[in-house]
Amino acid sequence: MPIRVLEDDVIARIAAGEVVERPASVVRELVDNALDAGASRIDIRVEAGGQRLIEVADDGHGIPAADLELAFQRHATSKLWSADDLDRIQTLGFRGEALASIAAVSRLRIRSRFRDEQTGNTLLLEEGQIVERASIGSPPGTSVTVENLFHNVPARQKFLRSPLAERRQITLLVSRYALVRPQVRFTLMLDNRESFRSSGNGVLADSLVAVLGRDVARDMIRVGPHPAIDEAIRVFGFVSAPATHRSDRSRILLFVNGRPVQDASLGYAVIQAYHTLLMKGRFPVAVLMISLPPEQVDVNVHPAKAEVRFQRPREVFSAVLRAVRATLMEDRGSASGPGGSALSPRVLVNDATWQESQSVARKPLFADEQETDRAVPGSPAAPQRPRSLPMLRVIGQIGASFIVAEGPAGMYLIDQHAAHERILYENFLERQEREESMSQLTLAGETLELPASEASLIVSSQGQLRAIGLEVEPFGPNTFLIRSIPAMLADHEPREVLRGVLEELERGQKPGKSTLEQRLIRRVCKQAAVKAGTVLGREEMQGLVRQLERTQSPLTCPHGRPTLLHMSAGQLAREFGRH
Ligand code: ADP
Ligand code: MG
Repeated sequence: MPIRVLEDDVIARIAAGEVVERPASVVRELVDNALDAGASRIDIRVEAGGQRLIEVADDGHGIPAADLELAFQRHATSKLWSADDLDRIQTLGFRGEALASIAAVSRLRIRSRFRDEQTGNTLLLEEGQIVERASIGSPPGTSVTVENLFHNVPARQKFLRSPLAERRQITLLVSRYALVRPQVRFTLMLDNRESFRSSGNGVLADSLVAVLGRDVARDMIRVGPHPAIDEAIRVFGFVSAPATHRSDRSRILLFVNGRPVQDASLGYAVIQAYHTLLMKGRFPVAVLMISLPPEQVDVNVHPAKAEVRFQRPREVFSAVLRAVRATLMEDRGSASGPGGSALSPRVLVNDATWQESQSVARKPLFADEQETDRAVPGSPAAPQRPRSLPMLRVIGQIGASFIVAEGPAGMYLIDQHAAHERILYENFLERQEREESMSQLTLAGETLELPASEASLIVSSQGQLRAIGLEVEPFGPNTFLIRSIPAMLADHEPREVLRGVLEELERGQKPGKSTLEQRLIRRVCKQAAVKAGTVLGREEMQGLVRQLERTQSPLTCPHGRPTLLHMSAGQLAREFGRH
């Protein structure tokens, strides 16, 4: 084919595809416009996942009659005057492309009355062409109705997701706006049924209930405003207590300067802040508003404005991680005494963490919503994990593995092995923080011969081994003399201890994962912890529970598995049909 310049309407459709890739992006653009117009009420209607109908009505300032047609010209905007303005955009829109793009791929009706004018006006556009204009009586504000989206772009239609997926996406989108604009009353009707409503009373906590549900919202902890490490970057919002978690990261909701954004790297910062507090494969719930000077954020990188670019990404990353970590630690009651906590936020952002965050950043953060997924407190009868431990009275042991205890809030079942692991682990870290040497058991010297590959591992890791109280020295070719072992493993065979450690060494060091030393510590604690199947006396159990109460993170073992289950008296009563 010869080279030709494309017709205008073809150009319009191609550009439209970038701005409005799916029905949810139409909703996003229209809501952006309503918010930019200072609306206090935004009513959204969607039918058939947005393909049949999307309507967004607001009570904002409206569009002057003389400007109404102009609003549909590409690159016509009232929000940007010069290129310099791009550096300090305060509005959500700025390109002047959305209305033109949406109109190019649908049948669009707009009704608008400017607040300083007496009458309103309406336009009907088909495939971007105005086919009808009229004056109408209407209250101040604007409504845009979009029908038959993408009907003239068959290629786009083919790639549309199911109406169900689109509905979820739209609900999540509107929820996010409700969080970042609690002073705006949002309603969302999906196929003529109300699916979401926020009160618009300006209280973020109320929006939180509307978006997350009362159970989850109740378990959220307020983040910040923290004494800023970096004055320019502020982090504020809510994160879930470790007892509330989900199977995916779709409820890590992030906002940058009032704009919902997807940023896998920042999402990772949040997850990282829960390090060892959540089980593997479980994710926190978070609603975080990050604000920084507009000139440090580039919002003009993504056609659908879903992503932003930071001038100092690493600083933003660590601001988020620290704010969340500090919040979680404070919430623990932080009974760590002088010297600070072993899990204090300042130890966290190292190069490995940062690099890992950059590699996850390449994966999409928001896969389609999964409906199977529920936050833990959703199911009333399920035993729950409380946030911190009250004083418990030991009642007995089950299966030589679980301790049954009673507390003010009901019944507790404690996994003795996991609980002991947690206790040993925190003791270990505490000593390390205080820079005490690990207590160790000196031995007369046991020798062990190893294959060459393992021998070289030992040689190259001697520093880390010493740090955990394990001293070995070469004793002939591939043979070692074990000089000491960690004191907590005193009743273990020295050779067994070294073998366990070797296994850990063999798993190698992956960037971004916990350091080898941390893994060795966890390994030793696991080995040392009382095994399931060990009968314990009442004193021993009581001692274990007391120590667990004093840990900073009593709810999970160092590997992130739960240490205990809790059933409240109310739950017990319900289970017995007493309610
Ligand atoms: P942008 O938002 O990037 O300026 P749009 O194509 O979304 O571009 O909108 C074009 C212009 O139409 C806006 O700059 C604004 O002046 C006007 N406009 C659009 N929607 C509304 C609305 N809901 N209320 C008031 N003005 C609006
Ligand atoms: Mg816009």
